[in-house]
Amino acid sequence: MLQKLVEYHWSEHLDDALLLLGRLDVKTVPLAGGTYLLGLDDDSIQAVVDLRDLDLAYISDDTRGLHLGAMTTLQSLAESTLLKEFASGILAESALASASSRLIRNCATLGGTLGAGAASQADLWTALVALDAEVVVRSGSKTQVNLSGGTSERPGLALSGVVYKGKYERRIPCASFSLDHRPGELILEVFVPRPPINSGGSFMRVGRSASDLSLLNVATQLEVEDGKYKRVRLIFGGRNMEPLRLQAIERFLEGRALARSADTLDRQLLSQAMRAAISEFRPPSDILASNSYRRVAGLNLAYRALEEAANIAIWRGLVSSGRGA
Ligand SMILES: Cc1cc2nc3c(=O)[nH]c(=O)nc-3n(C[C@H](O)[C@H](O)[C@H](O)COP(=O)(O)OP(=O)(O)OC[C@H]3O[C@@H](n4cnc5c(N)ncnc54)[C@H](O)[C@@H]3O)c2cc1C
Repeated sequence: MLQKLVEYHWSEHLDDALLLLGRLDVKTVPLAGGTYLLGLDDDSIQAVVDLRDLDLAYISDDTRGLHLGAMTTLQSLAESTLLKEFASGILAESALASASSRLIRNCATLGGTLGAGAASQADLWTALVALDAEVVVRSGSKTQVNLSGGTSERPGLALSGVVYKGKYERRIPCASFSLDHRPGELILEVFVPRPPINSGGSFMRVGRSASDLSLLNVATQLEVEDGKYKRVRLIFGGRNMEPLRLQAIERFLEGRALARSADTLDRQLLSQAMRAAISEFRPPSDILASNSYRRVAGLNLAYRALEEAANIAIWRGLVSSGRGA
């Protein structure tokens, strides 16, 4: 419970919300679906700004990629036809897996999931990192500046202590969001670059039951060119884990031939990649899963995810070149 909450603001304009969030004298935070925030035991929070009327709930695409508004709910992401077809559907799949209860998914938003960070334990975060997604954030700032007009030969009117109100927008890679995000910055949207046609993705998870939090999850996205792995992303996540990129597998596979014959995947190569990566994969231990359980389960998951993604990439390559018809 937010015991010291004294102000509730229902903003209708983005600029109003930014000015409220930029206040230094009253600790003010954004309120999205409230599923995480309203249960927090934090006596420092004095005010919340409700974001529901800011037109930030949207899913759209253009030639460069997808734009997902911060107030889009997990349920809308899971149901979206656009997302089911984008990047082998790993965003829709991971949004569905992020919370097993439909009631939660109907309230919980994309912005709230990223704002809660590792505490959200959301599968979606892993998939966003695998797709090199970026978070667009904006802050409203108020700064005291001293203005001096004119030149040294012809001095103008000098004004000291002028308050400058401005906006500042930047993009933060999802991978480093929890480190780089500053207080007072509002998440506006997430941009996901469109993967090229010759690519495939996969998302897999392991939990105590299908509806439980992921003990471990993996998202992979790979691109092929001239029958070789061109760009590989393999990310692990799950309970008590920030997204963890396994670069040893990526380095091992990039530049190597994907298949022995035109359409049969080289599975031996994937096994070699797993062996090359094992020393780099050091997941945490906690009460539900030990580090060694996660290592073994993780390498199996990664193998299956890479196999699935590579098969999709091969198939898409055949179809786009007209040979699959
Ligand atoms: C019963 C229950 C079960 C849950 N189960 C799961 C689960 O299985 N998996 C899971 O991943 N999560 C779970 N959660 C946690 C929660 O649902 C998620 O973390 C959720 O995604 C939070 O989204 P929200 O929109 O409700 O955010 P809020 O609670 O409104 O906000 C979360 C945080 O993000 C900040 N924030 C919100 N929007 C923005 C924005 N636009 N810009 C900047 N900061 C922002 C808020 O200030 C706050 O710090 C559960 C919660 C409950 C109550």
